[in-house]
Amino acid sequence: MCTGHLSRRGLLRGAGVAALTAGLAGSAAADPVPARPLSGPGATLRWLGVAGWELSMNGRRVLFDPYLSRMEYRLPGTSSIDERAPLAVRPDLVDRTITEAPELIMVSHGHWDHAADVPHLLTRFPAARVVCGRSTAFLFEASGVPRKRMIVVRGGENLDFGGLSVQVVPSLHSMTGDHAYLLPGELTDRPRRPRTLGELVEGETFAFQVSFGGAREVLLFGATNYAERELSGLTPDVLVASMTSWKPIHAYPARLVRALGSPPLTVASHHDDMITPLDSPDLPATVGTAGPAAFRAEVAAAGLVTKVHEPAHRKPFVV
Ligand SMILES: [Zn+2]
Ligand SMILES: [Zn+2]
Repeated sequence: MCTGHLSRRGLLRGAGVAALTAGLAGSAAADPVPARPLSGPGATLRWLGVAGWELSMNGRRVLFDPYLSRMEYRLPGTSSIDERAPLAVRPDLVDRTITEAPELIMVSHGHWDHAADVPHLLTRFPAARVVCGRSTAFLFEASGVPRKRMIVVRGGENLDFGGLSVQVVPSLHSMTGDHAYLLPGELTDRPRRPRTLGELVEGETFAFQVSFGGAREVLLFGATNYAERELSGLTPDVLVASMTSWKPIHAYPARLVRALGSPPLTVASHHDDMITPLDSPDLPATVGTAGPAAFRAEVAAAGLVTKVHEPAHRKPFVV
């Protein structure tokens, strides 16, 4: 077992993990014990399905990759993406789950399962703004979103909203088994209004570290990869990690956890089937358990420590 990586901070965080383990033992909806002995009530996280999250603390509320429409994306009889599948946004499903206004919506990249519902949400919540890359901004513009509603980022920004800050981390998308990117592409001009899933190209991919006044820092990824050097200096309390297959990526869990100084809590994300409705009794069975299990095993094998939490859809928990 390698312990050479353990800094003093890492050891202190190890103690926090034991407390977290106790806090999470009851149920997925239980309030985990805070990662460190911090004052304040903690941040509330709620999984919206796929890679989507709602975060709130001290009366501030933000969304990350909110995708509730859960539309059919497969070519019939396969698990492959049908690029010509219609963009069938379901505002009723969005509105049923997201009832309180966010001030910000962060979008990791342009794919349908991250960006498709954002134009509707911006219409529904007229004070909200979206943080996204340039290519994704062109998609939103083509969908009728005014430029003044967008904060278009390049990666590396640390945006201050007064008591809430958002650090934009240049990142990478996950890959197929043969090391290819899915629906790649980058827009340099406004396209026609998108009508199919395939028109929502990846563009740039970012992760976002949200800080609630420095009291809680939550780092969220929307895809199963990262640029390791871009994580230098980040020590989030909570890592929200994508858990689709990382077979083509070398040592995905261990490098990630090590680069972030062993976050006390890692929360699994992007590990449901993306289609089954959120109110279906079949939903829990669609959530993958192999990803989180493999993540735990690989982190432990590398001699690292982080508590891996598998959330339930729509059930808030406090960290
Ligand atoms: Zn994607
Ligand atoms: Zn995705």
